[in-house]
Amino acid sequence: MTRGVSLLAVATVAGVERQGHQMCPSRRPWNAILIPIRVRERAHSKWVPDGECWISSYSVASHGYAQIGWQNKDERHVVLAHRASWELLNGPVPVGHTLDHLCKNRTCVNPVHLRVLTNFENARRTGGLDWPLGVCANGHPDRFLVEDPHRRDKMGNQRIGHRCSKCVSLSRARYLWRKRNSGKPMPFDLLLAREKPQRNGSASRILT
Ligand SMILES: [Zn+2]
Ligand SMILES: [Zn+2]
Repeated sequence: MTRGVSLLAVATVAGVERQGHQMCPSRRPWNAILIPIRVRERAHSKWVPDGECWISSYSVASHGYAQIGWQNKDERHVVLAHRASWELLNGPVPVGHTLDHLCKNRTCVNPVHLRVLTNFENARRTGGLDWPLGVCANGHPDRFLVEDPHRRDKMGNQRIGHRCSKCVSLSRARYLWRKRNSGKPMPFDLLLAREKPQRNGSASRILT
């Protein structure tokens, strides 16, 4: 599947990038490393076709993404090849954002198969599910997001996170319904988006 990155998204993102760099001048997030143009060009040109995907000719790391490196005086840099390829056309990926493969092919460096997502939007897309931006997996608008005081990182430290308050209520209602109606099929209004019959334009679908 091929979908382009909208010009509006790129323009918005450029504003966020400037803001991000101003706000944290001392810390350098991973995507603050400036990829030289020659490296972007190499990543953008060395690939073999697989349908509409451009399969990078660079080596694939254990995380499944192709990587490209360069030497700058004493410093050795390695970045993701798809990011370098995308940045040739679009400029740097803004801080706090990440590139998401619409084609789900991690070694693909075709820029039109990539879209910019905030780290939050990217992190909440798990299990191969995708849905429109600005809503949760069950289609509730982001205005229902609330801070999640229980969120922990892998080390058990508290992190500022968000969760959908509508989904929390839905989960509670499903739990209570199951307790009172064991074995019966869940009513339609308590189904999660991924459990509802799929039709065109549905809020959730599984990308394969
Ligand atoms: Zn692709
Ligand atoms: Zn929700």
